Amino acid sequence: MNIVVLGAQWGDEGKGKVVDLLSRHFSIVARYQGGHNAGHTVYAGGTKFILRLIPSGILQPGVSCVIGNGVVVDPQALLAEVDELEKNGVTVGDRLVVSDKAHLILPYHRELDLLSEARRGERRIGTTSRGIGPAYEDKIARRGVRVGDLAQRALLEEAIRHNVDARNRIIRDSAMDWRVVMAELEAAWTRIRPWVADVSLYLARARAAGRRILYEGAQGTLLDIDHGTYPYVTSSSASVGGVCTGLGVGPRAIDGILGVVKAYTTRVGEGPLPTELAGPVGERLRETGQEFGAVTGRPRRCGWFDAVAVRYTARVNGLDALALTKLDVLDGLDAIEICTGYRVGGAVTGDFPSDCAQLAAAEPVYEQWPGWAAPTRGLRRYGDLPAEARRYVARLEELTGVPVAIVSTGSGRDDTIVREGSLAEAWVA
Ligand code: GDP
Repeated sequence: MNIVVLGAQWGDEGKGKVVDLLSRHFSIVARYQGGHNAGHTVYAGGTKFILRLIPSGILQPGVSCVIGNGVVVDPQALLAEVDELEKNGVTVGDRLVVSDKAHLILPYHRELDLLSEARRGERRIGTTSRGIGPAYEDKIARRGVRVGDLAQRALLEEAIRHNVDARNRIIRDSAMDWRVVMAELEAAWTRIRPWVADVSLYLARARAAGRRILYEGAQGTLLDIDHGTYPYVTSSSASVGGVCTGLGVGPRAIDGILGVVKAYTTRVGEGPLPTELAGPVGERLRETGQEFGAVTGRPRRCGWFDAVAVRYTARVNGLDALALTKLDVLDGLDAIEICTGYRVGGAVTGDFPSDCAQLAAAEPVYEQWPGWAAPTRGLRRYGDLPAEARRYVARLEELTGVPVAIVSTGSGRDDTIVREGSLAEAWVA
């Protein structure tokens, strides 16, 4: 039983918590895309962990964590994260596996990221400036440096010299010394080497041995390089297709696909967000939901649940079930709205526009539902939810066409409901 857990909105859906909850029932957690901009927040044993690159499964003793070829790896960030975990009593040891085909983020990628965002001016896309975009650019342009290249000193030196030269021709006010970059990489390699493997082979053997694998997505489907709201997207395949390309597994290696959604909508950075609430309700969602970026601290834009968008991400991913997080953030609201359609050019549609400009012009069409007075926060049984909350969940299921298998009612690991009779029961068995 191998499942995918991915974001079915614009990221920050609470995937970290859901993966953390499920991962004790799996033997391997494998990340397939993104870089150290993911910023999952997980509370375990009273400690707050922010995991950027290493899958949150690392917090479960005995679980192995894989960083696939679809991920871009900043060696310094990886080692800093390992050190931080170990400092807090989490032993990484041999539980980490890093693909030899994963591309490296190098110091010049970070600089180029800042530079290209500054050059975009008004048309900036809101990157986290960690060099992730430029590292993917180099990958596609076939001049990237991969983790496995660290083992081949002569080849590595040639590539680094060439790329640092190119950087120095673009950024003229300060020269970077390729020898410094090489020295840093060589130091990092002595630590990273034991973790490096052919991930496709590793996962095939694991499956053959009956080990259960959880494939973990970062960001969200609406930030996918192809299926997201381009150009306001991330540089990788955050949707389900990324699992196959980012880990070297076939689609039949996937038995179930869980989409994580918040009970409302958030988005960080630029780009269209049809249900955005600029007024006090949006402010309230941001404050109650603590909607500030885990990595950057940027306030997230907040709005009502967008069923048009989630119906779309359900299609793109073939979602089998939803995990609905942060239901408790809606506690105490008099009324709750759900976006059921978009008005685009006078006509109402239930289809998510393919074109970003059309999405920007779309006006949300809402239906209103009564809120609930009794808090859902921390509830652990579905039957204990106020009737209005259950009705809200049922309506989201109808509108998105996907059953809600998991409901999260707080940030703690145990503030979670796995619904009886849902697919998720088998995943936690
Ligand atoms: P991720 O990147 O998808 O894992 O999302 P983030 O970690 O950026 O954001 C999720 C945040 O919401 C974290 O701070 C979680 O502790 C918190 N969280 C997750 N589920 C719930 C929930 O059901 N209720 C509340 N109040 N907070 C939650």
